[in-house]
Amino acid sequence: MPEARIVLLPGDGIGPEVVACARQVLEAAARAFALRLSFREAAIGGAALDRFHRALPEATLAACRDADAVLLGAVGGPRWESGDWPERPEQGLLALRKALGVYANIRPLRVFPALASMSALREERLQGVDFIIVRELVSGIYFGERSEGPEEAFDVCRYRRDEIERTARVAAAIARRRRGLVTQVDKANVLASSRLWRGTVASLLAAEFPELKLEHLLVDAAAMHLLLQPARFDVILTENLFGDILSDEAAALAGSLGLLPSASLGDHAPQLYEPVHGSAPDIAGRGIANPIGAILSVAMLLRHSLAREDAACALEAAVEAVLAAGFRTPDLGGSDSSATVAGKVAEYLARAGQARRWA
Ligand code: NAD
Repeated sequence: MPEARIVLLPGDGIGPEVVACARQVLEAAARAFALRLSFREAAIGGAALDRFHRALPEATLAACRDADAVLLGAVGGPRWESGDWPERPEQGLLALRKALGVYANIRPLRVFPALASMSALREERLQGVDFIIVRELVSGIYFGERSEGPEEAFDVCRYRRDEIERTARVAAAIARRRRGLVTQVDKANVLASSRLWRGTVASLLAAEFPELKLEHLLVDAAAMHLLLQPARFDVILTENLFGDILSDEAAALAGSLGLLPSASLGDHAPQLYEPVHGSAPDIAGRGIANPIGAILSVAMLLRHSLAREDAACALEAAVEAVLAAGFRTPDLGGSDSSATVAGKVAEYLARAGQARRWA
């Protein structure tokens, strides 16, 4: 097997802490599943502003372009919020996503049985909750023309058919491996861009994925259904702004923002993996950040970039076992450190590797 080149972008705040945990687990997966990996670290966000006065230095982008997969921690923090900096740390991340062409952001949401009592919802509403949000990531209102003045401001939400089609194909391919239901979320009763989404997704799925079931839902109704009937969803497909908001709402179901992984996929390597949470300046430097979002992002990396479904499933099972055994960081009501939780996941994974060799 050729060596897979992994670039690590620790970033700011708790980013370096959770990326160190994720690397430890990825190395354990490499030992257990005989993967050949090499690692390179590069600066992004505030850490890059400190050293290079750029949130995404050329050298970082070049290292990422040369990689098979990129694993990022988080960027941002109060230190870089004053107007003294040439740009904001978050601009480095937006520029990286755009430069790598990772247009489909995948956020799985599963409620771990051991953590059902931590959710914002009652336990009985959480039975069977297991869905994936596919959010268009590099177009729409975040990237449209804008104008800002003291009396008037606007942001343009523009989508092209091909941008919608490529994101819909990613969602449909995922739905095909799952329960086969795509819920496309928009505001088609008001917005022209939403009506383009609706028509494009309907004709694409009918032509290329006729076996899938497609439903359309207005974003306001979707926000409500996520709380009232979250188990009804399988794959939610939506545009950039609605996806940003709905995925944070969905995060409340899981029990902690620190648990959630994401992958941002394009048509070619490298793909980008990152936990959903930010840099959490309030707990940075204390060794107590929940590393599971970053660790489950490693599982997504194994699945989507290295095509190792076996290792990805073993890692997800190891996380579930560690939570069931009661190891928890403070955000989940426990007192374990990030390092303890990551060490336990690595240990369970090593056992999975042994079981596999004996099998
Ligand atoms: P945040 O996600 O950093 O934190 C929100 C809350 O969740 C905080 O109380 C934090 O302690 C907690 N939290 C987050 N991750 C956790 C973890 N792994 N373990 C335990 N608790 C965790 O969001 P915020 O406070 O709104 O933003 C802080 C900074 O992060 C800002 O500069 C923001 O711009 C940036 N940010 C970056 C990203 C990214 O890099 N992708 C995403 C969101 C926010």
